[in-house]
Amino acid sequence: TYDRRPLIAGNWKMNLDHVQGITLLQKLAWTLDDAKHDYSRVEVAVFPPFTDLRGVQTLVKGDDLDIVYGGQDLSPEDSGAYTGDISGQFLEKLGCTYVLVGHSERRTIHNESDELLNRKVQAAYRHNLVPVLCVGEGLEVRQAGTHVEHTLAQLRQDVAGLDPEQAGELVVAYEPVWAIGTGEVAGPADAQEMCAAIRAELAALFDESVAARVRLLYGGSVKASNAAAILKERDVDGVLVGGASLDVDEFANIVRFEH
Ligand code: PEP
Repeated sequence: TYDRRPLIAGNWKMNLDHVQGITLLQKLAWTLDDAKHDYSRVEVAVFPPFTDLRGVQTLVKGDDLDIVYGGQDLSPEDSGAYTGDISGQFLEKLGCTYVLVGHSERRTIHNESDELLNRKVQAAYRHNLVPVLCVGEGLEVRQAGTHVEHTLAQLRQDVAGLDPEQAGELVVAYEPVWAIGTGEVAGPADAQEMCAAIRAELAALFDESVAARVRLLYGGSVKASNAAAILKERDVDGVLVGGASLDVDEFANIVRFEH
């Protein structure tokens, strides 16, 4: 087995304004402090809306919290006439560690293509951000039984052109779209099946040591009650949590899945 530190990541989506965001984060830090959470064993990350990031930075740096954070998206470009877009440069300057790339809501609502997502992945590396690349199939693909092929095809296009050093840093989140925000959870065996397939694909695209380093998350209606069983799977190294990350106690219990 490999030494991959589990990553528990909360995607706040378009919830929590900048005041609500720091309030929730402060409570989360207190709750995890009270529980004597060991961040060196299990990493904790949050993905707030862009407008919250400055406040999150002030709190995290000011109180010396071990919680890390990232943006929910970034532009493939670094600067210029791209009204409404956010550069990876800005996220880096705000102390972000990570950035989500290719969340299914971006792929669907904003029609983001794998060609665009590949450029976003490249942009993340240009600015020292670790991409949390989201891949996964919709319900029709799952029902047709081609979910592995479909998800690996996304992966291949999204990571094209990376060197092995960059690829080894990557975090990939497998999020079956039919299980996001629906209460439908893929079973631990489904999560393991896909994560094993993703790891094998990374070994083929890069090499075994890259595949062994990359952390693979599962996402889709994760709660405190189902997190431990999913995280027990051999190739699942963390979870990406949407709805349940907005409830401090629920999210803290996911972070403390070992207890
Ligand atoms: C997500 O947004 O990445 C997600 C997995 O959402 P939820 O946990 O609400 O299904």
